[in-house]
Amino acid sequence: MIVTRFAPSPTGLLHLGSAYSALFAWDQAMNVPGRAKGRFLLRIEDIDTARCRPEYESAMREDLAWLGLRWEEPVRRQSEHRADYAAALDRLKAKGVIYPCFCTRGDIARLASAPHGIEPIYPGTCRGLAADEIARRQAQGQPFALRLDSAKAAALTGPLEWRDRDRGVFTADPASHGDVVLARKDIGTSYHLAVTLDDHLQGVTLVTRGEDLLPATHIHRLLQALLDLNVPEWRHHPLIRDDEGGRLAKRTQALAIRNMRESGETPESLRARLGL
Ligand code: GLU
Repeated sequence: MIVTRFAPSPTGLLHLGSAYSALFAWDQAMNVPGRAKGRFLLRIEDIDTARCRPEYESAMREDLAWLGLRWEEPVRRQSEHRADYAAALDRLKAKGVIYPCFCTRGDIARLASAPHGIEPIYPGTCRGLAADEIARRQAQGQPFALRLDSAKAAALTGPLEWRDRDRGVFTADPASHGDVVLARKDIGTSYHLAVTLDDHLQGVTLVTRGEDLLPATHIHRLLQALLDLNVPEWRHHPLIRDDEGGRLAKRTQALAIRNMRESGETPESLRARLGL
């Protein structure tokens, strides 16, 4: 049975781009002609508590329901599952594939920018820190993130593949993203870790999301192998662009579903506009 999910971060109003993503996930599970209905899940990705707001979550739920989507309750809210992420980090630590990184934001900001969902390639500054140096800094209370030692991890798992239903089979290339952060200093987990673990725990069989997140899938495939998680299939859909061809930010007020509803748009006209 196909199980898909829509996994928004409640950092703003639902806009046309995320509505497309939600409808895309819904259609894959519930609306493929000739195929039995599957399951559609909603997951609230609110680990970044400084940026997420409960009022955006309720507004999103209302807009999604208006679009005709129905999901199973209770929804998984990531902020309520920190223990799961901590346990996964312990397992990765036991395998020797994560290390503490004390670099500051300033150190990282000097590096080149990177696609959405992927931080800049980290030069590995803290990878070789000696155990006594780590202990000294931790004893001083220096904040640290946890990074994946991607080369060591890839050597442990051997070559990996993953399948996008539209684009075919990829050979996982996690090393080209460097040593990504798996636990941020401030929130103790990360997008990569939480999303991969949750998709497994929720039994998602088809991960659908924007093509801007395709590079992240290389990392997620590696995490699945390291943590013995189920391997779903993927579909990375095109992004809905604004008139200037830019990415739709949640703050683009005119394209907030809420405002489109008020200016007379219907779920049907919205679907037609999105080509769905
Ligand atoms: N929460 C992510 C976002 O809003 C999407 C996660 C995913 O689909 O993998 O961009």
